[in-house]
Order: sequence, then C-alpha cells, then structure tokens
Amino acid sequence: MIVILKQNPKEAQVERLLSWLKDQGFDTHISVGKQQTIIGLIGDTTQVDIDLIRSLDAVEDVRRVTEPYKNANRKFHPRDTVVEVGKAGVKIGGGNFQIIAGPCSVESREQIITVAKAVKASGATILRGGAFKPRTSPYAFQGLHAEGIELLLEAKKETGLPIVSEIMDGAHLPLFEEVDMIQVGARNMQNFELLRLLGTLRKPILLKRGLANTLEELLMSAEYIMAGGNEDVILCERGIRTFETATRNTLDISAIPVLHRLTHLPVIVDPSHATGESWLVDPLAAAAAAVGADGLIIEVHNDPIHALCDGAQSVTPEAFDRIAKHVQTLLPFASHEEEGGE
Ligand code: PEP
Ligand code: MN
Repeated sequence: MIVILKQNPKEAQVERLLSWLKDQGFDTHISVGKQQTIIGLIGDTTQVDIDLIRSLDAVEDVRRVTEPYKNANRKFHPRDTVVEVGKAGVKIGGGNFQIIAGPCSVESREQIITVAKAVKASGATILRGGAFKPRTSPYAFQGLHAEGIELLLEAKKETGLPIVSEIMDGAHLPLFEEVDMIQVGARNMQNFELLRLLGTLRKPILLKRGLANTLEELLMSAEYIMAGGNEDVILCERGIRTFETATRNTLDISAIPVLHRLTHLPVIVDPSHATGESWLVDPLAAAAAAVGADGLIIEVHNDPIHALCDGAQSVTPEAFDRIAKHVQTLLPFASHEEEGGE
C-alpha cells in the first residue's frame, strides 16, 4: 500500500504520520520525489482502514499495491534508483549508462591485466571476471577461486576499475570483501538463502535473470535482497531458454522497457550469454542500448579461441572497441521516470 502525501507537507505532519503508521505495525519506506512524496507500507495491510488514513491532514491519497514486490516496485519509489559502484562511485541508472567488460573467467595475471587495460581504454568503467564458475560439467574449468579474486584485485589496482565477480556460495563471502559489486548468476537467481545473505551487505548486487524465470520472479528475488536493507540491486537480462536453438539463449528485449515500468532499479543487458556467439554481441548490444538499458556486461578475451570458458561468445579487445563506440551513438533516454506508474 502507498500513501501519497499532499504537496510540500509540513515536516512535523510527516513525522506524526510516520510514527502513527509505525505504531500500527508497519515498516515504512519513504520516497521524496520532485512532484510527490510517497510512503510505502510494508506488512499485512489487509485490515487497514484506508478511509481513515485518507482523512489525515498530510495525505492526498492511498492506494493498494497489488504486486507482491514492494521495495522493488516503482509505485513505492517513482524515481530511478542510481547505484554507485566502487569507491569512485561509478553510477548506473537514472540516465547513467555504463559498460562492464572483461573475460568470462580470470585465467592468469597476464590475461586479466591485458584485458582490463584494453577495455578501460575503450570506455568500459567496470571490470568483470569470474573466479567461481557455474559450469554445466563438473570436469570443465571451474575458475581460479581465491587466486582469481586476488588477480582481479591486482587488475583493479593497476587500472582503477571497480570489479564485479560472481558468488556461488555464501561461505565464500569473506573473499569478496574488496570486490566492488557481487554478481548472482542466472543459476542462483532463486537461491533464497544466498539472496538473504547479500541483503545484509551494503554493497551493490548484480542480479541476473534465471534461465527460465519470469520478470515477476526476478523482481521477487531483488525483493529478497532489498528486504534485508540492501537497496543497491542492478537487474540483468541475459537471455532465457526458449524452443529456439540457433542461439545459446533468446534475448528478451522487451524485458528492458517492461522492467523499467515495473521497477525503479537499473536494468542492464548481457548480450554475450544471451547469444553465445561473438558476432551477435554487437547487434544485441546496440538493440539493448536503443531500448533504454542502463548498461551492458560484455565478455572480452585477448585470445578467445584459447579461452577456458565461453570463448565462442567472447569478443576481442578490438571488436569491443567498435561495439563500445557503436553503442554510444544509440543511447536514447535520460531517465525512465516518466515510464513508471499507471
Ligand atoms: C557469467 O556472467 O559468466 C555467467 C555465468 O552468467 P549467467 O549466470 O548469466 O549464465
Ligand atoms: Mn561466461
């Protein structure tokens, strides 16, 4: 349920209202917008006397929010969330478009540092690299684990780029202390215990859509993280399973504008896992930018043919440079705020 306040409410009135709502047993979430201030109520609102709240001094209107996700809902928080990554505060969302790039897996010092320098020179602002890899086969390369994180940290030091890496097990969390953003991969999107744990952090989470999950399920997973107080969640569309076999997955391009309508969280696109083929990364990155994605995450390898993971979909640094330039010509939206609501 949301309580919409009258324009320019008196501070004392708002304080009184918030403490009264608290006494009624609700957690409140306040969102101060350019036009309106909105108080979101979290908890069981089935017994609330809507007419009573509506009659209060500061209140303009009261509306029920029927969607099961509350914190992630744009109705609770009409303004775009801008997530800041790393000490330098690289901004994603609300008109801030960023490209995350790097190899699928960290393989060696030389590899990660070469790729980090190259992608930075082409305009990437965050470095990716997997240290714990969710592989279909237990016999495939599983990542360098703790050493992979160490090498990523070296690349961060060398280039100044903040880093993102995937976590697969909450027990590994201590290794991620200096990792600037933690990725939850598609296969763990509904690992609710992991999501709960990440909700206790004050660090951005990159939440990828599951292979066969609806957008509502994705938003409910974001809600798990946000319910713990961590509001810095970035959603990632990375292709879903369909009957089509020509590409590794099917990029759900409509997910981007739909999510922007449903949620205030930034939405980025992974054209590498969406297609599985390096030649498709450019057109799909372009499509994602054109429909208003807040960023991209692209796999780049200095020697794709010999990559230990996902070589076929990895682009070379030279190709990445062309893609980054192409994408910059296609960015259409300053923000998504007008697209929200009903
Ligand atoms: C990845 O980013 O390397 C990865 C494994 O992605 P996804 O979880 O989307 O498959
Ligand atoms: Mn990969």
